[in-house]
Amino acid sequence: MNEIRVTIFCEHHQDRFEPVKSVYPNGMHAAIAAAFAEEPSFRLTIATQDMPSHGLTKEVLEHTDVLIWWSHLDNNLLDDAVADEVCRRVVRDGMGFVALHSASFSKPWQRLLGIEYEAGEWGRFRTMPKGERERLWIVAPGHPICEGLEDFIEIPQDEMYGEPMLIPEPNKLLFIAWWEGGDVCRSGTLFERGRGKIFGFTPGHEEFPIYDQPEIHRVLRNAARFLAPPGGARKRAGEGHLSGEALEDLSHRM
Ligand code: ZN
Repeated sequence: MNEIRVTIFCEHHQDRFEPVKSVYPNGMHAAIAAAFAEEPSFRLTIATQDMPSHGLTKEVLEHTDVLIWWSHLDNNLLDDAVADEVCRRVVRDGMGFVALHSASFSKPWQRLLGIEYEAGEWGRFRTMPKGERERLWIVAPGHPICEGLEDFIEIPQDEMYGEPMLIPEPNKLLFIAWWEGGDVCRSGTLFERGRGKIFGFTPGHEEFPIYDQPEIHRVLRNAARFLAPPGGARKRAGEGHLSGEALEDLSHRM
């Protein structure tokens, strides 16, 4: 079995402080990484926003088949050059990208989708002190990302994200969330961008232990397997580019 190189990017800001610290004492990235811990087919790298280049140097990205992303308060502080390189890596090289929860507002995800909005300008959301019960219905039961799941995933408490999400039409819709307050949300959305596949998965508010749930771990593993390109993400820039006799005058490019 081919090894899948998974990099987990975490903003690692709120989880240094209460109330999030008690929920994720080792950081949210540790809980996400635990999804892959017992599976030797994955090789993990952890990147956090405070690291040089946010832990996402070209070297790290070039050795990543699937990048899983959790971010929130510091979305706007992300270096544009890093966001651009992540997008290039997806489109050009086929790297998979998973946007978790408030990564809906991250630069790479929004650029890949061609959207731009802040949390308050989009759809509907409610953060109540206790959150809301969420039932994540599987609407594509035959899809590899849904492999091994029951009809739905029950999440006792999460921040409500509701429609209209203001996203492009996904290539495939995998999950729809029902909320006890009456809202619904397209919570598992799959898109193709160039050579890459990208997956938005909305559960995962930082104040609730959602990334400790075994079913969520299964979705993350399934997603990493499905999004990893066959043979691994690899750089192919220049292949065939401007090869052969130019049929037009290209001197303006010199
Ligand atoms: Zn949240």
